[in-house]
Amino acid sequence: RITLDDVTVRFGDRTVLDGVSLDLTEHRVGVIGPNGSGKSTLARLLNGLVTPSRGTVRVDGLSTAEHARAVRRRVGFVFQNPDNQIVLPVVAEDMAFGLRNTGVPRKEIPARVERQLARFGVAGLAERPSHALSGGEKQLVALASVLVMEPDTVVFDEPTTLLDLRNRNLIRSYIDAMPQQAVVVTHDLELLCGYDRVLVVDEGRIVHDGKPLTAVPWYVEHCS
Ligand code: ATP
Ligand code: MG
Repeated sequence: RITLDDVTVRFGDRTVLDGVSLDLTEHRVGVIGPNGSGKSTLARLLNGLVTPSRGTVRVDGLSTAEHARAVRRRVGFVFQNPDNQIVLPVVAEDMAFGLRNTGVPRKEIPARVERQLARFGVAGLAERPSHALSGGEKQLVALASVLVMEPDTVVFDEPTTLLDLRNRNLIRSYIDAMPQQAVVVTHDLELLCGYDRVLVVDEGRIVHDGKPLTAVPWYVEHCS
């Protein structure tokens, strides 16, 4: 469970999020809104990648500003740009690296990595140099490398932007079926069908908060 209590984020003299309070308990939460409205900033707050200039974000009661490590173990984050996510030169090593200090027995790590890649149809990429993957391949690997950690909540920042139709459907079905909580930032409104709750962000504020059927018309009117 993630809560935001009167959270403001400023970068320099720009206020990017302005007094946002939320209690995220639903299994599936979508976040939509125009470019530059503050969606990625909101998403990054949820696992402590960004800390509030004012107010508090708590994960299971732990403040993200004070308990960064514990928070990151509970809340996984898939970056909008997969280049920010992949750090080691070989795909499987990059994925194994994250698992090393999580209590997973070392000898089980390769099989876990392999299984997660296979779920996204990219087991063949395990030994490939990560810098030489295509955009879509990187996005699938980035998704796999977060999900292999099995966090309680996964925050996806535009997880399907680089994917072809088939892989978009694959990721959509995966998110729909995953047992953990998912918070999904997207411009791909089809992803949000059946979600419990959709937040609409505009100019750093939550301007709409409810079921997809009531949130989507706002988006269609203002963003198309
Ligand atoms: P998009 O749909 O294009 O991904 P977004 O809703 O995710 O947009 P954010 O990335 O949250 O938007 O950015 C919100 C605003 O904050 C933008 O105007 C952006 O330029 C600004 N911003 C974000 N991060 C920083 C930063 N580290 N320093 C300065 N300004 C920033
Ligand atoms: Mg963004």
